Amino acid sequence: TVDKEKASNVAKIKVVVRKRPLNKKELAKNEEDIIETESNSVVVYETKLKVDLTEYLEKHEFVFDAVLNEEVSNDEVYHETVEPIIPIIFQRTKATCFAYGQTGSGKTYTMKPLPLRASRDLLRLMHHTYRNQGFQLFVSFFEIYGGKLFDLLNDRKKLCMREDGKQQVCIVGLQEYRVSDVETIKELIEKGNSTRSTGTTGANEESSRSHAILQLAIKRSADGSDSKPARVVGKLSFIDLAGSERGADTTDNDKQTRMEGAEINKSLLALKECIRALDNDQVHIPFRGSKLTEVLRDSFVGNSRTVMISCISPSSGSCEHTLNTLRYADRVK
Ligand code: ADP
Ligand code: MG
Repeated sequence: TVDKEKASNVAKIKVVVRKRPLNKKELAKNEEDIIETESNSVVVYETKLKVDLTEYLEKHEFVFDAVLNEEVSNDEVYHETVEPIIPIIFQRTKATCFAYGQTGSGKTYTMKPLPLRASRDLLRLMHHTYRNQGFQLFVSFFEIYGGKLFDLLNDRKKLCMREDGKQQVCIVGLQEYRVSDVETIKELIEKGNSTRSTGTTGANEESSRSHAILQLAIKRSADGSDSKPARVVGKLSFIDLAGSERGADTTDNDKQTRMEGAEINKSLLALKECIRALDNDQVHIPFRGSKLTEVLRDSFVGNSRTVMISCISPSSGSCEHTLNTLRYADRVK
């Protein structure tokens, strides 16, 4: 019952904002920090022009579950977002943690360390609290690029998705590694990250147009033995989303860029709709809106938890993108 209480104490949907520090480039351009934060609110000061061309500041205020300022460490981010979910993964929970924001806002910086921290804690529970109960931990890591799936732990092999009649989504051929120590997980995560960033074209260009999905699954066979096939008990997914500004690349001259932009736009809209539907306990969740939401289908049904980390730049030059990010997060909340 203690575990059940714990489960009900973890919010179904949590929206957190993370502000990064001004970087060298922004400082060199004399851009200013226009973001004020408090424990759960964020204020954006937008510079506007009057008709007589004098400037004035427009204040935009948003309230979220938590707002993390530029001094907050990655450890504290973990503590605030993923740590509370760990124990309930063993209680049949599927949880998803997203990083949303424009390219350069800190999504990858925020997401990169989380899966390793989480696996360390999952393994600790598996090896101590749930010792000898037959739980197994699996890791997989893939990418959605232009609406197609690629395995980041298997040389970017192209993958297909299949759905069985029981709302189960299966990614055919996806490599899943069974792991029982932190060192192996660390190597796998590093391998996936490097496969991601050394793709076919320029590193940052490419990663800003793809969604990277790292999944940690806890499985167990019917009798808890190793000889029977193991089934998923709970799952924790980490998603480093494509740069939110890429969804606006729908008028670009390059056809490829335009198509990718349309796909990203579609997936970010579908994601928002699914999370809102979840929050309202709607029976019908609009998964079919995009590849991203279809892939996440089994994480949105049943006992699910969602954490959205909205990453923002503090700089005046990013004001418009920052407002877009905060408005998106506000709609999800
Ligand atoms: P994104 O993945 O959203 O495109 P990145 O995570 O790559 O952005 O961040 C862009 C740059 O800013 C990187 O050099 C990263 O190290 C730095 N950065 C991001 N967030 C922070 C932070 N909270 N503290 C310090 N540096 C950060
Ligand atoms: Mg990134």
